[in-house]
Amino acid sequence: MTAKSSKILKDAIRTIPDYPKPGIEFRDITTLLGDAWAFRRAVDELVQPWAGAKIDKVAGIEARGFILGGALAHQLSAGFVPVRKKGKLPHETVRIAYSLEYGLDEMEVHKDAVKPGEKVILVDDLVATGGTAEAAVRLLREIGADVIAAVFVIDLPALKGADRIRALGVPVHTLMAFE
Ligand code: AMP
Repeated sequence: MTAKSSKILKDAIRTIPDYPKPGIEFRDITTLLGDAWAFRRAVDELVQPWAGAKIDKVAGIEARGFILGGALAHQLSAGFVPVRKKGKLPHETVRIAYSLEYGLDEMEVHKDAVKPGEKVILVDDLVATGGTAEAAVRLLREIGADVIAAVFVIDLPALKGADRIRALGVPVHTLMAFE
């Protein structure tokens, strides 16, 4: 990506100070999604390393990972797998608990969402501590997926989440970083 495109994409992210609580700088991708050029460019750049590769499924983390994941799946001619908060999926699921800043949460995926050995790319809007994405990787592996990469629009490198995902043996691809 050229420096100019990279800057335009980064400028398309809106930062909301002190949301959802004091001290958090919320990186809002809705402004990028609402900009036709930026949305297409972000999707193109997220899948670019796998152009021409045979990817079976894109797994998106609820909720913003769904918006990106549908577009990525279309671009890669792959299926889409929703990774959801507990209690939302109608069929048999596997579930994993993971830590949030305060307390625990749980996410689920349908047991039959991938066939053993299928190549899956995981997507979310942003990686912070990496706890959410790590749980999703473990869940997808539990149902037999070969998680070949995790992709995010935004990395917060100070929190080392991308390193945490790489330590699981999953390559990480991000489009921009906010220090
Ligand atoms: P983590 O598990 O710490 O990597 O947090 C990642 C998840 O929380 C992603 O689903 C993000 O959408 C959300 N998230 C965490 N921090 C932020 C932030 N500063 N701005 C926007 N979303 C965030």
